[in-house]
Amino acid sequence: MPASRLDEAREILRRTFGHAEFRGRQAEVIAEILGGRSAMAVLPTGGGKSVCYQIPAMMRPGLGLVVSPLIALMADQVAGLQQSGVSAARLDSTGEAWERADTWEKIEAGTLDLLYISPEGLMQPSMLERLSRTPLALIAIDEAHCVSQWGHDFRPEYRMLGRLADIFPKVPRLAVTATADARTRDDIRAELKLEESAEFVASFARPELALSAERKRGNAHKRVAELVAARPDRSGVIYAGSRDGTEKLAELLRSEGVPAHAYHAGLEKGLRAQRLETFLEADAAVMVATIAFGMGVDKPDVRYVIHADPPASIEAYWQEIGRAGRDGDPAEGITLYGASDMAWAYRRIDGREVDDGVKQVQSRKVRQLYTMLDGTTCRAAGVRRYFGEEGVDACGVCDLCLGTVETIDATEAAQKALSAAHRMGGRFGRGRLVEHLLGKTKEPSSFEAGLTTFGIGKEFSPTGWRDLIDQLLFDGLLREDPNDGRPLVGLGDIEGVKAVYRGERRVALRQGLEEHDPTTRSGKPRKKTRASSAATAIGPHDQPLFEALRAWRRDEAHRQHLPPYVIFHDRTLAEIAVKKPGGLATLAAINGVGEGKLERYGEAVLAVLRGMDA
Ligand code: ADP
Ligand code: ZN
Repeated sequence: MPASRLDEAREILRRTFGHAEFRGRQAEVIAEILGGRSAMAVLPTGGGKSVCYQIPAMMRPGLGLVVSPLIALMADQVAGLQQSGVSAARLDSTGEAWERADTWEKIEAGTLDLLYISPEGLMQPSMLERLSRTPLALIAIDEAHCVSQWGHDFRPEYRMLGRLADIFPKVPRLAVTATADARTRDDIRAELKLEESAEFVASFARPELALSAERKRGNAHKRVAELVAARPDRSGVIYAGSRDGTEKLAELLRSEGVPAHAYHAGLEKGLRAQRLETFLEADAAVMVATIAFGMGVDKPDVRYVIHADPPASIEAYWQEIGRAGRDGDPAEGITLYGASDMAWAYRRIDGREVDDGVKQVQSRKVRQLYTMLDGTTCRAAGVRRYFGEEGVDACGVCDLCLGTVETIDATEAAQKALSAAHRMGGRFGRGRLVEHLLGKTKEPSSFEAGLTTFGIGKEFSPTGWRDLIDQLLFDGLLREDPNDGRPLVGLGDIEGVKAVYRGERRVALRQGLEEHDPTTRSGKPRKKTRASSAATAIGPHDQPLFEALRAWRRDEAHRQHLPPYVIFHDRTLAEIAVKKPGGLATLAAINGVGEGKLERYGEAVLAVLRGMDA
């Protein structure tokens, strides 16, 4: 491809989107599509996947089709494009008939560059028939991991997209996703018939994200409230495992004065939309949600994601945590997890009606997740290696990089605990096992009192034993049967247990990481926290101007019924506040200010700047 085509692409990036240079692997992906070839691109969240198809769609003759799983995602993207002066639309079931007619008119006149559509919408015979008479620039398949059973968000309707290769053999197709391990990537390529196409996998590094995780102790909701209280005036997302959990947690937070709302699929549609809008438009708000909330929520200034209950896999973890810090400013991902969460995860997989191969893969994903969460080495590095990255360095900002996990040898105590679980026949829960080891069972039966393990564990406190039992559960040496909410503890991996009995396998008990918690248990943020909003990064001097710009943006967004970040990101406003451009030409040089936005908002922004001078 002649270099001039890529120069042209760079020019569009600069003029339309306001970015000075391509990032990561964007240029390579764009060059491939401009050359008329299909490709697959795996770029991390916030890595700039969309311009990879938007720019070629604008340059190549014909309509660019973007297949996307969620209406919210499409709506945001289309609004953003229109703000930048790009001709874009979406076709979905929520639209009015006249809107659809209007869109088709533009398609047939050849004036539309990008059309967003759902997979089931696209694959309708009448739609395919109509599109077969339309010149197509490309077909982009967003969130392509949805096509794979090995991924974490399989959607059967994505399977149909494989047929696109035969229906539109001459149209380059681009599959993009943020999270896919090697196996999922292979599967995506096979399903979408991209075996022969180039694959571009960017680094999964998210250096702005400080990760941490802690075992649940006591009341997990109280702990979450503590973490939130230590992060005032910032936007955050909290994931909880159940609808009920989101409601209760949101209520607790509201009672403490936090502007929090629950969000889950059980809410009435209008209420859900309203809460989403409130969250997106707020400068600081907290959403307590099930995983129904997520894909397509592109709020760039989310400063933390807290998992009140752990995610389902490392892919899900990376994607959910990845919603923090999309603007590139420091953000945090904090996960609370427990041995019983792990037991439930296994249990759910067991109960699924899928074949054993799939169950095995899913169980392995659970194991890998907890190995990372309860591990002792850099979390970010672990995740990146999981995604197949090589030569990965420690991140330097996660709890495990900042602190060291102290371990003590607890092999002998482990032998006692395993032996007790064995003798008690797996018929009792963790609390009872602890009492047994300490000899504190109230009114023990003569059977229990007669066991050699009764009262042999004086070396640990009750908390110490609970920690050790958790550790043995995470290690797979013990196994928990959820037993409908009253979990029972029994022996796990028998070979492993035997090795511990024989002293061949040592058990290292993890000591607390408390000093290095993102928030100490007193609720104070740790001193070294890097997480600060763009607002605090710009220095007190420019703060009033930044706030004035945000206020202007809030009004403007309100007037147009748009989320504020569709107009300008915080980042862009911060840069404006610091550089204080004196005219349109200098304003145009700010990252995120393209020609369309310059024309729309340039004068208004300059007026805000002048207003602060006066
Ligand atoms: P994702 O990969 O998560 O879909 P987006 O395409 O939404 O990411 O892009 C994330 C952010 O990065 C957007 O704000 C976008 O404007 C910005 N961006 C994309 N490409 C560049 C670039 N080359 N330089 C600077 N910012 C960019
Ligand atoms: Zn690290």
